[in-house]
Amino acid sequence: MDEHGSLPAAQFTIAAMTADHPHVPPDPSLAQRIRIVLVGTQHPGNIGSAARALKTMGLDRLVLVAPQRAPDVESFALAAGANDVLDRAVTFETVADAVADCRLVLGCTARSRRISLEELMPRAAAERAVAVAAQAEVALVFGRERTGLENHELQLCHAAIHIPANPDYSSLNLAAAVQVISYELRLALLASPEANSPAPAVPAERNPPASHAQMEHFFAQLAETLDAIDFHKGRSPDSAMRKLRRLFLRVDLEERELRLLRGILADASRMAMLAGRR
Ligand code: SAH
Repeated sequence: MDEHGSLPAAQFTIAAMTADHPHVPPDPSLAQRIRIVLVGTQHPGNIGSAARALKTMGLDRLVLVAPQRAPDVESFALAAGANDVLDRAVTFETVADAVADCRLVLGCTARSRRISLEELMPRAAAERAVAVAAQAEVALVFGRERTGLENHELQLCHAAIHIPANPDYSSLNLAAAVQVISYELRLALLASPEANSPAPAVPAERNPPASHAQMEHFFAQLAETLDAIDFHKGRSPDSAMRKLRRLFLRVDLEERELRLLRGILADASRMAMLAGRR
């Protein structure tokens, strides 16, 4: 994070990984801040294969959101030696709950959709994820085998990741997609400054960033206020809210900046109420 509050996304590149340090183990605390979230998984076997994919790449935080069937013997069979990752997997009811404490949330989609969301290539996404993980929690979110992520779930993400597969056949098996993204995370972790220098590369942060949950409370208040001041004038609020979400998620707000915005919204609502009474 620099003095303007922007993320150090381009601090390093995989290409910059030097031959001098090919086997430096990544800083485990970085990997610990990265969680892989599987949403509404239909086949327990895929949960096991995903656990194995994570462990091979030095990751171990698996999060399940409302799986259709809980992990079972098939999951453990396909997890092979990654039972520990499965055992520690935590389950949540909703994507919002699973990523509430995250600073960066990236959603993986098999197809590009018109969701007004920035779309990243896996490599750029992994580099951004690892850069943010130097300071805060990060989530990579994967959808259901048959239907992927729903649009309202993708709207919770800061950006989408698309693996540039065959455009005529772009949908990877869920665990295969997790493997590709975990591999990119591995490369980014190996190339990160933390892995290659003993000194902390990212300076300590001055002001705490807003969490995902705080951003969601802000968006709820923003939607109510826009209604209260009759901003939409009969139009559907969806398109404006999508654009506003994208704008505010992009700027990576601090908690105190969010408090300021929420104060403005509260005053605008109060004035609208007073005007309505008059
Ligand atoms: N038919 C579904 C595909 C689901 S595949 C759809 O069209 O959305 C299950 C999950 O694997 C997806 O939700 C996504 O998270 C991940 N995935 C599969 N192929 C992918 C790709 N090419 N790029 C990024 N993620 C992919």
